[in-house]
Amino acid sequence: MSGNDRTAARKALVAEIADEVAGTGKWLGKEALDSRVMAALEKVPRHEFIPAADRAVAYDNRPQPIGHGQTISQPYIVAVMTDMAAPGPGDRVLEVGTGCGYQTAVLAELAARVYSTEVVPELARPAAERLRRLGYGNVETRIGDGARGWTEHAPYDAIVVTAAAWHRIPPALIEQLAPGGRLVIPVDRSPTAARYPFKDQEQDLLLVTKDAKGKISERKMLPVAFVPLIEGDEDARS
Ligand code: SAH
Repeated sequence: MSGNDRTAARKALVAEIADEVAGTGKWLGKEALDSRVMAALEKVPRHEFIPAADRAVAYDNRPQPIGHGQTISQPYIVAVMTDMAAPGPGDRVLEVGTGCGYQTAVLAELAARVYSTEVVPELARPAAERLRRLGYGNVETRIGDGARGWTEHAPYDAIVVTAAAWHRIPPALIEQLAPGGRLVIPVDRSPTAARYPFKDQEQDLLLVTKDAKGKISERKMLPVAFVPLIEGDEDARS
């Protein structure tokens, strides 16, 4: 695929996302996403985040395997979660679950700084290197359990969790949310924690907001299917 083909593929993908957003408007409570978010999706070279063998399908609106039992999220979901997190140009954002770094890059296009944590070192290292190579100088990554947040840089204007918490929102993430902040997190309500290939899952994507007085509100947005959030791991620093 040439550079021009990729630009065309990204444009087509963004148009497809716009259609899907309109089709799911009753859940999202809106018919279209923020134009800044759509522009970021049109800019980030998704093929760079996908194993070389799968690059032909990089711009399909589907999740893809990235190794180590993990997946790169579907572009529509990345767009929706980014829109919910609403990262402004001056915002500090925490991401839990760097994976291949695609969502990280989309957030980095929109926010001042992005702090991203990944528990699997074999994913975290190449993702950090990829983000550097692509010029995302406003991203800092770390290997470790992001369910505990990242205290050093807290509070965050937005927190995006790209793996499903089981039954409860990790309290550290609520603590590390700034007043006026948005936390986007899939929560799994299945009797047993989700395991690939995601049979019998009951996950909801939640938007949790903290108002100026610190009061927390929660809104259920969409039924989703994420890999499980691993909690309670050794906190190793890269
Ligand atoms: N944001 C990624 C999605 C990756 S899938 C993308 O754009 O492609 C979710 C990722 O969360 C996986 O890589 C998984 O290893 C990671 N993860 C799971 N539990 C975690 C935890 N407690 N802390 C940090 N990362 C975690």
